[in-house]
Amino acid sequence: GACVDVCPTGALTEWINKWEGVAETQVLSTCPYCGVGCQLELALKKDRIIGVSPKGDGTVNQGQACVKGKFGIVEYVHHPDRLKVPLIRKNGNFEEAAWDEALDLIAERMGGYNADEVAVISSAKCTNEENYVAQKFTRAVLGTNNIDHCARLCHASTVAGLAQSFGAGAMTNSIDEIRHAKCILAIGTNTTDAHPVIGIEVKQASRNGAKLIVANPREIDLVNYAGLWLQQNPGSD
Ligand code: SF4
Repeated sequence: GACVDVCPTGALTEWINKWEGVAETQVLSTCPYCGVGCQLELALKKDRIIGVSPKGDGTVNQGQACVKGKFGIVEYVHHPDRLKVPLIRKNGNFEEAAWDEALDLIAERMGGYNADEVAVISSAKCTNEENYVAQKFTRAVLGTNNIDHCARLCHASTVAGLAQSFGAGAMTNSIDEIRHAKCILAIGTNTTDAHPVIGIEVKQASRNGAKLIVANPREIDLVNYAGLWLQQNPGSD
């Protein structure tokens, strides 16, 4: 979408907002599609999102957004099938309910369990702040430490590997430092598909002369930029 954003003549436009006119206001938000957390400007008109642009000075994405963030938000936020109100199953059928009614029902049902009989699972599609609230609610309100996150499934091995190698089980550098790296080992990641804006940084590093080593059974896009492709057998890494 970057070509649409910078097109000087207006020859390239987005079909989805072609007839929407000029936005009334802009709101800064965080892309929910992947963990990169790109900063996006949402163009609003009459409480509808009519366009999305990556924030030019966003420290995370620096004016970049992938196809998911750039083009995938307007459609799903305003999709007619999107659930906007809670549904409660009554007599076998889902019926729309007020939020207070739904929350009261949940509180009533959960009241029948001891704290440690309850578990909460959060999502990588939430922001850090939302995940913080989820764990705080679980610990302080529900009174249990049974809080987990879907990243346990995909990132448990990463956490162990990073902690052993770098002393912390999380990213130890800023995204905008990747392009200055001298050597990058990409393993267990199809970066340009899963976290495209990070993929741009890795490609930039490669163009800057970094040695890129890709360990992946598949010939993913990054292999085209790699000095070394380690094609292990699936399940053997
Ligand atoms: S890389 Fe794409 S999907 Fe991920 S946060 Fe940025 S715009 Fe969203």
